Amino acid sequence: NSRWSLAGMTALVTGGTRGIGYATVEELAEMGAAVYTCSRNEEELNQRLQEWSSKGFNVSGAVCDASSREQRSQLMDKVSSVFGAKLNILINNVGTNIRKPTVDYTAEEYSSIMTTNLDSSYHLCQLAHPLLKASGKGSIVFISSVAGLVHLFSGSIYGATKGAMNQLTKNLACEWAKDNIRVNCVAPWYIKTSLVKTLLENKEFLDHVVSRTPLKRPGEPQEVSSLVAFLCLPAAAYITGQIVCVDGGMTVNAFP
Ligand code: NDP
Repeated sequence: NSRWSLAGMTALVTGGTRGIGYATVEELAEMGAAVYTCSRNEEELNQRLQEWSSKGFNVSGAVCDASSREQRSQLMDKVSSVFGAKLNILINNVGTNIRKPTVDYTAEEYSSIMTTNLDSSYHLCQLAHPLLKASGKGSIVFISSVAGLVHLFSGSIYGATKGAMNQLTKNLACEWAKDNIRVNCVAPWYIKTSLVKTLLENKEFLDHVVSRTPLKRPGEPQEVSSLVAFLCLPAAAYITGQIVCVDGGMTVNAFP
């Protein structure tokens, strides 16, 4: 059933070698898309590409530090040449965090989080726009965070970048609807990935997370990638400008 397939579609997933990005690459490839991805660690990237190829998935990729404007442009040039100047799907997944009280952040830390989380996804949307438009059927998904909707103990800069991505979702959804580009956003709560591994290994911290979560556990990367893939399907053709939480019920739970 073509409503539930991504066969014939092309996708760029940033940061695909671990965590949510990795699960998203696999999910999109399993549903039939040709996927391009990137990360900073060449060895890990090549290993992943080999694994995917042996699983029969159509995934290619290149090293790119998404926080570098120049490298983002080079990445989109590669994507454009691999996919014939067209792209159906852009997943803005790369993100980082430094957790501190607001008064302790240095100017360097501020700009590093801003650049990696917000500048990179904003610029990649700009760069991808002509390709998404040329495909005739484009879809952008931001991986934001519940930290962009409510206060968490994850730091105010991270929250600000994710809040900005949430608003960008709405602006671009309206601005680019005429180009048949849908723009949606997935906002996860704690998901078991390398980003938060040390945090979740701290029993006290994990207990706190679990106590706030109606489903009583952190999430799995595949529980995020399933929604990301859904939002890119023809079945989701009338969904745009939405922020969907994947949070085990955390954000609707006012009382622990
Ligand atoms: P991970 O750190 O586990 O994985 C990040 C992936 O992105 C890796 O493949 C990493 O490879 C790559 N990456 C990181 N920085 C860059 C960069 N500058 N340029 C290119 N690639 C990069 O993170 P998660 O999967 O946990 O997070 C993915 C997204 O989900 C982020 O935006 C995060 O904010 C968001 N999120 C995560 C939550 C969680 O609990 N895990 C909760 C809410 C949101 P390499 O390091 O080799 O570059």
